[in-house]
Amino acid sequence: MPHHVRKPLVRTAVAVACALVAGCGATAEPDAKPAGRDASKPAASPSVRPVRPVTPVTPSAGAPLAGRTIVIDPGHNPGNFRHTAEINQKVDIGTNRKECDTTGTATADDYTEAAFTLDVSHRLRDLLKAQGATVVLTHDADRPYGPCIDERARIGNEAKADAVVSVHADGSAAGNRGFHVILPARVQSGAADTAPILAPSRTLGERIAAHFARATGTSPANYIGSGTGLDIRDDLGGLNLSTVPKVFLECGNMRDPKDAALLANAAWRQKAAHGIAEGIGTYLKG
Ligand code: ZN
Repeated sequence: MPHHVRKPLVRTAVAVACALVAGCGATAEPDAKPAGRDASKPAASPSVRPVRPVTPVTPSAGAPLAGRTIVIDPGHNPGNFRHTAEINQKVDIGTNRKECDTTGTATADDYTEAAFTLDVSHRLRDLLKAQGATVVLTHDADRPYGPCIDERARIGNEAKADAVVSVHADGSAAGNRGFHVILPARVQSGAADTAPILAPSRTLGERIAAHFARATGTSPANYIGSGTGLDIRDDLGGLNLSTVPKVFLECGNMRDPKDAALLANAAWRQKAAHGIAEGIGTYLKG
């Protein structure tokens, strides 16, 4: 299947359309809305616990994912809304300099993407642990904001992860529905060299897309990826700087009422986590 590469003209058109939609993802990482828009609203997690990086789990003998390390990257952070100056600091993503992190989008009912990504990540972590995997979260709302996108990549690299998935939900226009997986583009610039991870990341992404569709009963996005559920981007630091197989998953569009109803439903999120876990498991088992 030919790779879908978003053309500059298309990106420009999307960017213009997105200017009308809070949280639309064409211009930032990958579905940012302008930092500060909701700076006044309380974050979902008012208390900040001490930074507690990662608690590796001892794999169970004989478990299917024993000996495997999976890094889960919950997109954004509930505290980002209150730290817009910090998250707007630029970091090097190889091809460019880009904001440290973004606030993410939210549904019309103000269910934030940061709350969504954490919830799905927790469910996914539990499923993977139950299969014996060592699971690392890049954050657990246990820091005031971030991590920055370069650090998110570094956590996966330093864990020597067998697979990394960055969990997101999109902020596109209403009527745009469905999920898509974002794969790294071929990038060799500065600190970024994705050549070694292109093929395994594609396989990982294809497995996740297939199992996510089956588990959730939702379709690949109708607004990106030409119906394949796969997109390729060269503007995401989290992918550009990764040295281990990694994809982003946009689970649905928070700005579409029908998708938002699914994303806000706990039973659906459990199905989503199952789909992601099955996709990762299938990838790792070859
Ligand atoms: Zn996001």
